Amino acid sequence: MALLTRHAKDEWIAPPLLSLGVTLSVTDAFDTDQLGTFSGEVERKLTPLECARRKAQLACELTGLDFGLGSEGSFGGGPMPGLLNWDEELLVFWDRSAGQEIVAYAAGPVRVSSCQWRSPERLEAHIAANDAKQAWIIRHPAGVMKGLCGAAELLDQLHHTVLPGMSDDQAASITIEPDLRAMHCPERQIYIYQAAQQLAARLQSLCPRCAAVNFWPSTQVPGLPCEDCGAPTPLPLAAIVQCQCCEYEIRQPVEHTVADPQHCSWCNP
Ligand SMILES: [Zn+2]
Ligand SMILES: [Zn+2]
Repeated sequence: MALLTRHAKDEWIAPPLLSLGVTLSVTDAFDTDQLGTFSGEVERKLTPLECARRKAQLACELTGLDFGLGSEGSFGGGPMPGLLNWDEELLVFWDRSAGQEIVAYAAGPVRVSSCQWRSPERLEAHIAANDAKQAWIIRHPAGVMKGLCGAAELLDQLHHTVLPGMSDDQAASITIEPDLRAMHCPERQIYIYQAAQQLAARLQSLCPRCAAVNFWPSTQVPGLPCEDCGAPTPLPLAAIVQCQCCEYEIRQPVEHTVADPQHCSWCNP
């Protein structure tokens, strides 16, 4: 499979696929930053799914292979927007000859956060509270500096490049932000790996009727009965698994048979 990346994503995508006997052919022949950057120099015009899909198709075009992969992450959203930073990682598999697409995903919270420049001590404390492999960006009035690792390198750049000649007001506007590119963000790497694990599982899950890949739950049917009163709750009762090719579908019951009364609008209004 071809993978288009300039951010070393093959390191986390290749291992789960290797278990299927799939090896990756990595190309960097297209600057993926043209599709948008996390640090904002290039605005993202495509949705994350459109972006991942475009990368998967480009991977095929650039390598001549029939199977392409495109990965795209996005921050924000999640169950508690504003309180909890959330990362969603999409991994699109594109089968060029069949014209079939599989979208795998993983998502979860990320703890890493920005801080305002105040003093070396505050900066050191902020960096020490995060994974040592997390890289950072200095955003200052004249631009951004990316891919900086550790408090020592940040302080070196601040004292020698950024701060000289700057007014106190300008210095107070400097922010230290996490560099969210995949090779610099360990928390993202976990979700990229999990999305690749899901893709491997989707490729192994075959339709019982036509044997097409990606026989996978797509929608959930709510209505799991309350444990106390038996009324239907919003929790899923079953998942619908439908084949993309022949439209064969089954209703797959969930693991639990009853819902905790806290989810019941009669018992816990
Ligand atoms: Zn089928
Ligand atoms: Zn109830």
